Amino acid sequence: MPPTPIIRPDGLPQAIRHWIGGEAVDSADGLTFDVEDPVANSPYSKAAAGGHRDIDRAVAAAKAAFPAWSRLSNRERANTLNRIADAVEARHDQLAQFESYDSGLPITQTRGQARRAAENFRYFADVLVSLGEEAFRQGTDQFSYVVRTPVGVAGLITPWNTPFMLESWKLAPALASGCTLVLKPAEWTPLSASLWPEILTEANVPAGVVNIVHGIGEEAGQALVDHPDVPLISFTGSTDTGRHIIRSSAQHLKTTSMELGGKSPVVLFADADLEAALDSIVFGVFSLNGERCTAGSRVLVERPVYEEFIRRFAERAAQVRVGHPADPDTEVGALVHQEHYARVLDYVEIGTKEARLVAGGTRPAHLPEGNYLQPTVFADVPRDARIFQEEIFGPVVAVAPFEDETEAIELANATQFGLAAYIWTSDLKRGHRIAHAVESGMVWINSHNVRDLRTPFGGVKASGVGREGGAHSIDFYTESKIVHVALGDVHTPRFGATT
Ligand code: NAD
Repeated sequence: MPPTPIIRPDGLPQAIRHWIGGEAVDSADGLTFDVEDPVANSPYSKAAAGGHRDIDRAVAAAKAAFPAWSRLSNRERANTLNRIADAVEARHDQLAQFESYDSGLPITQTRGQARRAAENFRYFADVLVSLGEEAFRQGTDQFSYVVRTPVGVAGLITPWNTPFMLESWKLAPALASGCTLVLKPAEWTPLSASLWPEILTEANVPAGVVNIVHGIGEEAGQALVDHPDVPLISFTGSTDTGRHIIRSSAQHLKTTSMELGGKSPVVLFADADLEAALDSIVFGVFSLNGERCTAGSRVLVERPVYEEFIRRFAERAAQVRVGHPADPDTEVGALVHQEHYARVLDYVEIGTKEARLVAGGTRPAHLPEGNYLQPTVFADVPRDARIFQEEIFGPVVAVAPFEDETEAIELANATQFGLAAYIWTSDLKRGHRIAHAVESGMVWINSHNVRDLRTPFGGVKASGVGREGGAHSIDFYTESKIVHVALGDVHTPRFGATT
């Protein structure tokens, strides 16, 4: 078998540096870490490894930029957001190539992520110019109104699964709200973030408004969480890290938003449109290499169609095209990192002892190198199995039968997670009943994950705390102050008065 050809995008940086106060800088102590691609698994660049001194500098720059940025009118900030979207769109191809090369996501899917990143800025620009504030009237005696003020310097910490898009998902509302910020991108995928400095410069974003410190989570990330001048942390990542960050944030009583892990159920009833459900389930769990927080990674199927579904699902999984991330025919690319690949393979090993393997389970024969796995389907998975309970975050899915609606709900809710759920039925009443009974932050009926940027995004149980998206994001990045105004005479009990 010939070795996999190396396909490198043009313009790969030899060094990925921090962006602090409008300048590209090395770490204060000069330390770097190697950045690898997931196909050759060899270092292609070095990124600055930030520590507390770099975070101190970045927070100081963000603090200095805050008064001017937060004072701009909504229209002026919205114009800046639209210019950022223009600059993102202008780099669409390069962005998609960088993201695919660094993360192993298929190029056709990173193109979608680049588009969504630009859309996040345009959307929050629109929100900003249409934003009003609440007012309350108590008869003719009192009038109260809300004043929103940006929280200050926001700390943003992001994961590696859709890096640039998730960074934009936090940057756009933070900037719209008038916050300045420090972003700590995921250390396995810093490449696309290396494009932010030129995007921000082209969009005329003032120096210090956005600062980026690369580095290892336990060092750069922890220093950001611990910094007393950062009152708010928006975190997307694993549940364990989220717990740890909440504990650390308690020291300074920070506001936190936690978008964490998932093990989302798909509940498929026998009366559903099976063809549409199959397309959706295959896409929902194997797109983005299965490294998707909202992946429908537990498929619960009503008994009468169970065996037929398993057979057809296994056939489709076996035919999913696994290949080089840069190949436009590829449907599943390379998993992000050797360490993560080994972890996913461990789960496959565990799964073969816990359940019936009906598809995949191994590296495709035509791909001798790189972090590749054929989409893997386990059937008859018991509810206490680790592959039913734990987030695998790869192209691996657990399928189990159910007898009736009660059991479907029980199984859907039988894990610690509660991010998303997908329901397939042609009985609309039942669809709504299950949607209300499932413990999750988001539910789709007869669809996979199609977002509407205005809607709340987030999970319950171990999948998160708080909501972002639309007005929820603006609430998160601002403090609401209520101002009460007396319009008439106020009746006041006259304590201590003698006349
Ligand atoms: P992770 O928790 O390992 O890392 C996420 C980020 O946190 C990285 O930037 C990392 O450097 C940083 N970090 C690690 N330790 C830290 C610490 N002590 N202090 C501060 N920062 C620290 O997660 P990951 O492996 O990068 O991402 C995968 C996880 O993200 C999965 O569990 C997935 O479900 C979740 N995720 C959730 C959503 C959502 O919206 N709910 C979206 C995407 C991914």
